Amino acid sequence: MKSVDALILGAGPAGMSAALYLVRGGVSTAIVERAAPGGQVLSTAEIENYPGFPKGIKGWELADLFSAHLDEYPVERLRGEVVSLGVPTEEGGWYEARFAEGQEPVRARSVVVCTGAHHRALGAPGEDKFTGHGVSYCAVCDGNFYRGRDVAVVGGGNSALEEALYLARIVNKVYLIHRREGFRGSKVYADKIAAMPDKIELVTSHVVDEIRGGENVESLAVRNVNSGETRIIPVDGLFIYVGMQPLSGFLPAELDMDAQGFVKTDAEMRTNLPGLFAAGDIRAKLCRQVSSAVGDGATAATAALSYLERVNA
Ligand code: NAP
Repeated sequence: MKSVDALILGAGPAGMSAALYLVRGGVSTAIVERAAPGGQVLSTAEIENYPGFPKGIKGWELADLFSAHLDEYPVERLRGEVVSLGVPTEEGGWYEARFAEGQEPVRARSVVVCTGAHHRALGAPGEDKFTGHGVSYCAVCDGNFYRGRDVAVVGGGNSALEEALYLARIVNKVYLIHRREGFRGSKVYADKIAAMPDKIELVTSHVVDEIRGGENVESLAVRNVNSGETRIIPVDGLFIYVGMQPLSGFLPAELDMDAQGFVKTDAEMRTNLPGLFAAGDIRAKLCRQVSSAVGDGATAATAALSYLERVNA
């Protein structure tokens, strides 16, 4: 069985940052990713708030830069999806990352979990039926199909605001549907949206009751949460951005998580299990940004290095 000092699960910004710090710390390091490196950054059109890029940078370009940086070091890159993680019976023992059938497990003295989060479903009637037929969770991936047409975005966080602005550059019109009056996302995005009422129509204090259509989405039935009045909005596409769900289902039952499944850590990214660390969007925390993921990764790696020093002494 392959054995490493440090195994990182997930190659988004947190994972790639952790890998960089661990390998530079002189320990044998492997990183597992099930898809291309970059994580959620790959489905983000433009990143405007990562320091050092005053004009912004495309998500895929930033992911490529992180990955190229890692290529300078002997980090082992593994492809696959970890389905369970075996916990050592004593401090300093081996964790065992198990993959889907047919792929050899990997054991590691320390593990940094950086598997992040993925989109949450809205739960509206029609959502499942029309996913891939007008319902999408990725404007960067699918926005181009709606060039010159009308679409809706649902949600009021940074993702919804950012992607509504991205879509407004491509489509004819965006309806931004949010269940409250105030947005959870940054004022800088809300102000940009407010400045383009012809392109982005705000449908606040409304919820989506039903997604309607034949083969593809044709309209949305939305309801005003105050008056109860229903309105039909004709659209060809609906982009859903109603929050994130952690990718933590494969983690051991002994690991402390919050009610939603985000992993609890201390300020050094240590979990309740010695030798197991978590970084990035998988953590229970307030701020989920590329810059905070990168910081988490560096912190987790530093804590993992001191753990390894102690158990290998
Ligand atoms: P989020 O911040 O959790 O926002 C989710 C939004 O969806 C909220 O407005 C929420 O409404 C709404 N919502 C939740 N469940 C709903 C439902 N069933 N029906 C209708 N609306 C629903 O999620 P996010 O926007 O995906 O962002 C996730 C994290 O990544 C955040 O920490 C965010 O700041 C960060 N992020 C940052 C950037 C950036 O800074 N550029 C970009 C993307 C994401 P309420 O407000 O009423 O709860």
